[in-house]
Amino acid sequence: MVEGVNANSNSDIAADVVNGIVTDAVAVGSDIVHDMASGKEVFWLNDKLESVVPMSEMAGRKFVYIRAAQNRLLRFMPYIEKMFPETAGRKGIIESELLVIPEFSDEIKRHNPDFAGRILLKDDAHLPIAGSVKARGGIYEVMVHAESLAMKAGLLKATDNYGKLDSAECRELFAKHTIQVGSTGNLGLSIGIMSSKLGFNTIVHMSADAKAWKKELLRKNGVTVVEYEGDYSSAVAQGRKLSAENNMSYFIDDENSEDLFLGYATAALRLKVQLFKAGIPVDETHPLFVYLPCGVGGAPGGITYGLKQIFGDCVHCFFAEPVGAPCFTLGMATGRKSDISIYDIGLDGVTIADGLAVGRASELVCEAMESLVSGSFTVCEDKLTEYMRLMYQKEDVFLEPSACAGIQGLLLQSGEKMKDYIRKHELTDCMVDSTHLVWATGGGLVPDEVRADMLGLTQKDM
Ligand SMILES: *Cc1c(COP(=O)(O)O)cnc(C)c1O
Repeated sequence: MVEGVNANSNSDIAADVVNGIVTDAVAVGSDIVHDMASGKEVFWLNDKLESVVPMSEMAGRKFVYIRAAQNRLLRFMPYIEKMFPETAGRKGIIESELLVIPEFSDEIKRHNPDFAGRILLKDDAHLPIAGSVKARGGIYEVMVHAESLAMKAGLLKATDNYGKLDSAECRELFAKHTIQVGSTGNLGLSIGIMSSKLGFNTIVHMSADAKAWKKELLRKNGVTVVEYEGDYSSAVAQGRKLSAENNMSYFIDDENSEDLFLGYATAALRLKVQLFKAGIPVDETHPLFVYLPCGVGGAPGGITYGLKQIFGDCVHCFFAEPVGAPCFTLGMATGRKSDISIYDIGLDGVTIADGLAVGRASELVCEAMESLVSGSFTVCEDKLTEYMRLMYQKEDVFLEPSACAGIQGLLLQSGEKMKDYIRKHELTDCMVDSTHLVWATGGGLVPDEVRADMLGLTQKDM
């Protein structure tokens, strides 16, 4: 059922698009750009990857920044526990499980007999509150803002029990302020839910590809949803502009936010503990491969930064994008980073992976990843659906299509390109002891009827 990577059927894209726009717009990296423009799957390896020392300065950022972010999350635990009862089991820590997926792993290995190593799933689809990886970055940045306002107003000290953020004084303060964000859906959900819970006026600027149920859920939470006909970048641009016109408004900028990035990065500290508790080593002879779905790049970028800080050269991070919106791969393979968009090569950004439907990658993330990311690859639409169904059938874990993109990384193991990477990094002999972590980034809040529809089931089958 699952096969190795091959070209898909979109190659009927007009040759003049490829030969005209592509060669005009892109002088370097043109083989891979040509394939991307034709809708083919690609696999890019980063030849600027550098060796790093854990807990040192990396990509201009110190390790202590992650610790500081972690400490802020700890300070917020009493508030989170009080306001979001689903987090009570972890005392207000917003974290997901590290899952062993034996049946799914067997299926992968059956079709790829050379696959060596252990397969795990990081189940961020079931992160509390937001049901996606955005619960890490989005909620964290709202915390940063709320804490700073409350401290400036003299209502909060770092040593207080943060449960007091639900007090009348704090709520009154937050009600005078607005938080805005542009989103394809999931970031809006995480920020919208957290920000309205604290009592902020919240406005989410949604792109055309955002799903109806996400808009509905936000409105139910008291969030103002503004809809745009354009794509994600135009929703962000509008939100940024409207927020700038209001001096009581704070804009959470998915394309440039250091706070989001650090919120995502804290995942690495938690993962380290989870791996340790599961008795899974990560060291020179036990490499860890991680496959992360990528939209604008913030989530996979922040997590990669965190993982490199913890595991250094023993972790190998790869980003996964849909063939319809490969903005990160395009930016990195051409060296143009955020100065090139998928529209420049004739793509339209249409994909069932709505969480990844982004035309232009984040500049901040491209810069930071230049020395840290091992590579990136793209996945065709049919496979996203196939992976989604297979995961549900085999493991009873529902993931949204975006969240399945990383699964392709497992299949790449049998290809020549990955074998080259493994040889180059002298890992051939330790691949039997390797761990492959698929980061499943979302799907937990998808309503049952939408799920059934995506899986091609009727509701009573579920
Ligand atoms: C947003 C999102 C991603 C990727 O995050 P970026 O920061 O946009 O790169 C991956 N998967 C899902 C489900 C998402 O919602």
